[in-house]
Amino acid sequence: MIEGTKLQKNILKWPKRYKVLLVGIIAILITNLMYVTGGSRTSVAQLFHIPIVLSTYFWRTRGGVISAIVFGILAGPLMPLNVEEGIMQTPTNWVVRLVVFAIVATFSGHVFDQIDRLHSEIREKDLTNPFTGLYNRNKFYIDATNNISKGRLFTVFTIKLINIDSIGKYVDPALVEKLINQLIRDLKLMHENLELYSYSDDEFILIKYPECNSIGFIEDLISKYATYFKIDDFEVRLPMKVGVYEYLGGNESPSKILDKARIAYEQAKEREYGIFYYNDKIEEEVKETFEIAASLPDAIKEKELFLVYQPKINLKDDSVEGVEILSRWNRGNRKPVGPNVFIRIAEEIGLIKDITHFVVEHAFNQISKWESKDIKINYSFNVTARELLDVDFIEWAEKLIETFNLERTNIEIELTERVLCEEGDKLTSVLKYLRKLGYKISVDDFGTGYNSLTTISEIPFDILKIDRYFINRLDRLEVREMIKSVISFAHRLDKIVVAEGIETKDQLDCIKKLGCDMAQGYYFSKPLLPEDFEQYLYG
Ligand code: C2E
Ligand code: MG
Ligand code: MG
Repeated sequence: MIEGTKLQKNILKWPKRYKVLLVGIIAILITNLMYVTGGSRTSVAQLFHIPIVLSTYFWRTRGGVISAIVFGILAGPLMPLNVEEGIMQTPTNWVVRLVVFAIVATFSGHVFDQIDRLHSEIREKDLTNPFTGLYNRNKFYIDATNNISKGRLFTVFTIKLINIDSIGKYVDPALVEKLINQLIRDLKLMHENLELYSYSDDEFILIKYPECNSIGFIEDLISKYATYFKIDDFEVRLPMKVGVYEYLGGNESPSKILDKARIAYEQAKEREYGIFYYNDKIEEEVKETFEIAASLPDAIKEKELFLVYQPKINLKDDSVEGVEILSRWNRGNRKPVGPNVFIRIAEEIGLIKDITHFVVEHAFNQISKWESKDIKINYSFNVTARELLDVDFIEWAEKLIETFNLERTNIEIELTERVLCEEGDKLTSVLKYLRKLGYKISVDDFGTGYNSLTTISEIPFDILKIDRYFINRLDRLEVREMIKSVISFAHRLDKIVVAEGIETKDQLDCIKKLGCDMAQGYYFSKPLLPEDFEQYLYG
């Protein structure tokens, strides 16, 4: 079947002269055969139906009818009825045959037209996204191939809708279709000469040619949809990240061009929207991410992960109040990768649970060893919101804490500020429950998530960790003022404030003056292996 289709396509692609030659040779052979077998009285004339149908196949009804007339004349007035006796045909005789030939050509032409129509319907379906009704990426490949072969330059935009899934899940599934339709309408209104395609239900591809005006319309679109707007009584926003790749000629395949535009928006941090341009460095980073994702399962199995402990200092008496437990990956000769990278990848590929199981088990083991040596400090664990929302994980950790017989009040759970408000009420009730059990809750990296102090105060927590970003900017008056008001607000709520990333004596003096309770940073110590931490503690 596939072979047959290939053959058909090859014949149809022949140059016109080859097709004419083929039909001509067949017709000449039949005419000769007709003549040598005695003329038109034999049924050899029926064989002319072959080149007629072939002509219709090549050139549809018009070509078929022309062939029918030519062959009707060849087998008609020019062909004797009986060659031996030299009797010619009567006009009725050959005209009737010519008409029959023409009918066969018209009929087969009609059949081929129907087949063509069916083919183009199927092709159209193959090229259309059923959800958006737009052309899909296959059509993009066809159009891009045409542009490349004509040497036409173009820019590809990929528009990824960041939160459309969440709108469907948490707001109203019916809203998704309306929003997508509104967006398509806007895109078409903003730019008339636009080639628009659906990559998937939540991603679009756009081709822009150099002669069309600037890309300002994309910027307008992004900012229009990034702010809240009303639709069907709902207030929603539709942030999007747009990847841009400019094809400047040369030997690149359409799929590579599309990949580059899609890789470009991978530069966006979590939930970040805006325009992102392709450069070769990103491709390198994406390759690295793939390598990390591929080797992470083995890292867990092969025990390449290990833990380090960074001291947290109480600023009232300079004592070691506790440690923050941080993961490390021993990658041998391969490029080192820090936890902020591999934890994010582990979350994306669904391995974070295995990593946290490893961290909790190993840390509990270490804590019980230190408890048996009478070391009494607090222990901070970094966890992701997803784990806290997982009932199985909490049950598992609770059983483990009982097995190791550890005090819950010595354990702090650090959650980065960015996720706290996004995850909403469910997370709040889990945090309340954990606090009731005795655990302490810490808001990590405070200041990086754009939450106001008022929103943070609605979340049940005990400790606020001011992010290193602000500690690095303590020389600015407005930063010092901001930290001062954060500390006094936190103290009014009876919370403890920790400064992260203290590297210099000046920074330490400054945060002490501002009233901070605790500090952590390279000035005191880098994260340490257990035996080094013991030395630090006693040294
Ligand atoms: P974090 O929880 O805010 O941890 C503090 C980070 O700042 C650590 O980076 C620490 O090594 C670094 N740091 C501490 N003091 C200084 C300083 O004075 N200067 C500088 N430049 N850096 C300092 P690290 O270990 O690379 O961890 C990065 C992030 O990865 C952590 O940020 C945490 O969010 C996450 N993480 C680390 N281990 C785990 C883990 O086991 N599970 C989870 N879910 N996240 C983890
Ligand atoms: Mg932390
Ligand atoms: Mg932090």
